[in-house]
Amino acid sequence: MGTRKPYQLVSREWKQEDTTFVVNGVTIGKDLMMIAGPCAVENREQIFTISEYLAKKNIKFLRGGAYKPRTSPYSFQGLKTEGLQLLREAGDKYGLAVVSEIMSIDKIDELVTYADILQVGTRNMQNYPLLKALGKCGKPILLKRGMSSTIEEWLLAAEYIVSSGNEKVILCERGIRTFETATRNTLDIAAIPLIKTLSHLPIILDPSQGTGLRDLVSPVSCAAIAAGADGLIIEVHNQPNEALSDGDQSLYLDQLGDLLPQLSMQAQFRNKRFDFESAVAVENLN
Ligand code: PEP
Ligand code: MN
Repeated sequence: MGTRKPYQLVSREWKQEDTTFVVNGVTIGKDLMMIAGPCAVENREQIFTISEYLAKKNIKFLRGGAYKPRTSPYSFQGLKTEGLQLLREAGDKYGLAVVSEIMSIDKIDELVTYADILQVGTRNMQNYPLLKALGKCGKPILLKRGMSSTIEEWLLAAEYIVSSGNEKVILCERGIRTFETATRNTLDIAAIPLIKTLSHLPIILDPSQGTGLRDLVSPVSCAAIAAGADGLIIEVHNQPNEALSDGDQSLYLDQLGDLLPQLSMQAQFRNKRFDFESAVAVENLN
């Protein structure tokens, strides 16, 4: 039964073929998965403006924090239920699957009601009761790497979810704490090909938390796809300078638009489907 690694169900030894599953027409683990949206949902106009842009570009996943884990208790904590309702409304209007962060067990029912994929943030990667409960929630989980976690600890966190009954786990590298302060975190690009050898789970990259600087987001995104990532989660804002959280690392909408053709080329090299902009006109989605 056992494998040589401390984790089992998530290991390549246990299962050779890549884990794939379909959400909103995208085969995660095979196609290129692009998730974009603001760090936090702030108001209706913000989320609808951004969502309309994403739909025009044929992006299929909208991110947005409604419950925000902020370092300071005095920082904006998110719109909570109202934020989730806005995400759902915009997602339904523009054909976007919704990704939002789950911070505690008592909010799982609410997140499951409004979101299509539940994000576990870096601060909760080792919240074992939460991980076990998410094993039973019935929705795919986006599991960020803990900011001080080894690859092994991260895969063991995924093992908690999978062994509790949910194999739909997407790993997300988002940088780790090092002595370097020029970037917000130190992105571990090598984690991508390494995870691919150790595990059958899909892995995506968050270049926004990973660098903290918007001008680094595009080059690092291309590097991630070249390294074999299954997708990206990118922060974008209609007015980054006014953002209530993570404005410095949020792309302008046009910057995201400029990045897409570059990613499309990288995706072709990796044989990953990425049909940006081939969408029907937004008017037809309403
Ligand atoms: C985020 O995605 O906005 C976020 C808080 O991410 P992380 O948990 O990786 O810091
Ligand atoms: Mn953020």
